[in-house]
Amino acid sequence: MRSSQAIINLSNLKKNFSNIRKKVYPAKLMAVVKADAYGHGVKEVVNALNSLNDKPEYFAVALVDEGIELRKYGIKDPILVFDAVANNIVEDYLTYNLIPTVFTIKDLDFLKAAKKKNNHRKNICVHVKVDTGMNRLGVSYKHAFDFIEYLSNQKDFIIDGIYTHFATSDVYNSSFAKLQLKRFKELIEKLRAKNISTGLVHAANSGAIINMPDSYFDMVRPGISLYGYYPSQQTNESIKLYPVMSVISKVTSFKRIEKGDTVSYSRKFKASKPTNIVSVSFGYADGYSRKMTNKSFAIINEKIYRQVGVVTMDRIMFDVGNDKINIGDEVILLGKSKKHEISGWDWCNILKTIPYEITCNISKRVPRIYIE
Ligand SMILES: *Cc1c(COP(=O)(O)O)cnc(C)c1O
Repeated sequence: MRSSQAIINLSNLKKNFSNIRKKVYPAKLMAVVKADAYGHGVKEVVNALNSLNDKPEYFAVALVDEGIELRKYGIKDPILVFDAVANNIVEDYLTYNLIPTVFTIKDLDFLKAAKKKNNHRKNICVHVKVDTGMNRLGVSYKHAFDFIEYLSNQKDFIIDGIYTHFATSDVYNSSFAKLQLKRFKELIEKLRAKNISTGLVHAANSGAIINMPDSYFDMVRPGISLYGYYPSQQTNESIKLYPVMSVISKVTSFKRIEKGDTVSYSRKFKASKPTNIVSVSFGYADGYSRKMTNKSFAIINEKIYRQVGVVTMDRIMFDVGNDKINIGDEVILLGKSKKHEISGWDWCNILKTIPYEITCNISKRVPRIYIE
């Protein structure tokens, strides 16, 4: 097997889950496993979570295809699809028992037609998405009451849940998130006052789980926090989280260069004195962005070394000074050694991004190795 690997620590995943569970109790948990569980491998992540006594009540994916994949792995739990019904082959929701997100009359018509065509006897469980300010998907909070009232009178459907999504819950004490929460709460109260059944009410993503305890309702939807990261560096650290993914490789070559010699394409690194250069089989095709050129670091034998020269598709180089490094020595690109750590946030600070993008971008070419 390839020397470059993404090590997925399933014990850390389970610890994160249990810590979130404790924090939000008695709210239920919908584990968000879209995009191959944020790059960690959806099959192993779901099986690890399902091995817990207090396993998630629901799973959520972005796409119908991701839901079908879980069903093919034999996962029997309820699965919510975040995508809009209109983008999908509607019959797949029924065939694979996936919960659609609905927010227009058309969505309901598509589903009704599929139910009729397939002689599907069971009523269709749906979750209604309410747009309280994100302006991405959902029925506007201004029209949501009317839509849900209409839906509640449709005999083909069961309202299994109503949800909304925050735009700024990763910002501590966000006034906009509070406004979204207020709009959502008012809607839910109005529905309850009219005795319209809401099913499970849910709103909180990781940011809100950490920052907004009054947004838990019946269920919460953690994604990034399961994988061990806070959604931003601003959120308060009220839950202990452990990064699940680390990325390691091995030194594949070692060479001495002289003062004035350059490394890699376009000669963006020039040695100011004689030095040793090692190369590692990891590049932008593996998810090591070319924007990290001359800016990132690795841990080799408990020392931190600077990445030098342009990041290439398959290979990166590190300046190890006058240290002697052996071919085959372990290189930690992302993760912890005994003394040091290169965190996802270190990559983020170079790339001006968030940990979500880092783990999702570790490409399929990098084998995932699962440890407990
Ligand atoms: C991705 C997503 C989540 C999870 O968000 P995190 O910030 O990763 O916790 C929750 N809800 C919806 C609708 C999402 O799209």
